[in-house]
Amino acid sequence: MAGSTALLSALIQGTQRPVSIDGTTLTGSELLGAASAVASGLHGRTRVAVNATPSIETVVAVAGAVLAGVTVVPVPPDSGAAELQHVLRDSRPDAWLGAAPPAVAAGLPPGSTPLEHLGVDVTARASYRPVAVADDAIAFVLYTSGTTGPPKGVLMPRSAVAAGLDGLAQAWDWTGDDVLAHGLPLFHVHGLILGVLGPLRLGCGLLHTTRPTPERYAAAARAGATMFFGVPTVWSRVADSPADAAALRGARLLVSGSAALPVPVFERIERLTGLRVVERYGMSETLITVATRADGSATAGCVGVPIAGVATRLRDEHGAEVAHDGESVGQLQVRGATTFAGYLNRPDATAQAWTADGWFRTGDVATIDAAGRHRIVGRESVDLIKTGGYRVGAGEIESVLLGHAAVAECAVVGVTDADLGQRIVAYVVPREPVVDEAGLAEELVSLVGAELSAHKRPREVRFVADLPRNEMGKVQKKRLV
Ligand code: ATP
Ligand code: MG
Repeated sequence: MAGSTALLSALIQGTQRPVSIDGTTLTGSELLGAASAVASGLHGRTRVAVNATPSIETVVAVAGAVLAGVTVVPVPPDSGAAELQHVLRDSRPDAWLGAAPPAVAAGLPPGSTPLEHLGVDVTARASYRPVAVADDAIAFVLYTSGTTGPPKGVLMPRSAVAAGLDGLAQAWDWTGDDVLAHGLPLFHVHGLILGVLGPLRLGCGLLHTTRPTPERYAAAARAGATMFFGVPTVWSRVADSPADAAALRGARLLVSGSAALPVPVFERIERLTGLRVVERYGMSETLITVATRADGSATAGCVGVPIAGVATRLRDEHGAEVAHDGESVGQLQVRGATTFAGYLNRPDATAQAWTADGWFRTGDVATIDAAGRHRIVGRESVDLIKTGGYRVGAGEIESVLLGHAAVAECAVVGVTDADLGQRIVAYVVPREPVVDEAGLAEELVSLVGAELSAHKRPREVRFVADLPRNEMGKVQKKRLV
């Protein structure tokens, strides 16, 4: 069954390996039976909201809706009332598929018509004859993480999901023989589309754990997992836990994404496991764009080359070409099979999203070398610091700071400065309480000066107990400037 119509190829063909969420397991045929029951109950619906708890109900609900060709709006389970209101008012689903989040039970959001609830029975065993669904039908309305503004609803066609999963399967030699383990939330591209639909399309097994600790990753390895997905904070914890990291030695692939993997973490994981973490870069709007290949050639700080069907280019702020020489920094633009169809109810944002010649503006800045390998400098709005006439990437400085034994976490930002335009400020979470803050700050500043150029030295180091992060482990830098 080629193409995206049969988006859940292996599930439909009944060759699925077991899927387990925190120990609750369904075999391939059980999952197909339960998803078929959901699909049968969706007749006449076009769009359903799913409270995307990390549970087997969520997997069955999403699989059922995808089988039936009904659009899914995955709702973060811990959404606050205002966030939930925003998502429901914006996406206007026909019904809740499965249990609604507690904020709805409490009578929220106010002013909206209560949504009908359709049950999800993971013990049901029905059969369902898949209907043909157009390739450009919208499979998901995905809300962006809201790192840079209110979450936007991304309209993701079935063809894009299929193309992204097939491109990744090719890049990573990912097959039905694999067992994927991860602990990502189930409402974003990374955890839900790549991390759940990936296995369901390929017939690969899934071991999902709600708490992605190094111990649980080690346990999954002992239970036969071959591939592991994680955000950089997870890999950083694994790197801090040598005994658990050693259990991953036999894995086929360790994958990081959603935010930049600091170079020191990549290096520590390689020392402990003998494996080079493979990186992938994508966003809600482009699903998956580039990925390092599974051939052991991964290099620290590099997120790889475009997957099949995707093209990238760099442009400066005036739209002029930026050389792919591995050094020149430009806005990353993307075109191809995995790109979204527009933002829901946001004609303004949709119009601004593409260039006149049809390339999607990611809002990220990057370098591309002659071999097509990408390095993500970060977000144009917060990670590209313009200081004293220089353009400096925050990630490069963060990697150097993380190389210092006293630094557990850090975030580098540009703070408005009358003299420099922006001044480089480093927020540092120390591993141990700091006795001499001024002394350590000076040491860190000199370290950056020694490893990078003088203009990249932080003007100020602020020691903090923790960094503001969202559930994907992304630092919310807007809150630091
Ligand atoms: P919003 O668009 O609402 O501000 P967001 O951009 O964080 O939120 P997502 O679409 O979930 O929402 O995240 C995509 C962004 O995550 C990318 O634009 C990029 O900045 C970052 N990102 C993803 N993968 C990587 C990676 N491997 N390395 C560096 N950054 C990454
Ligand atoms: Mg974004």
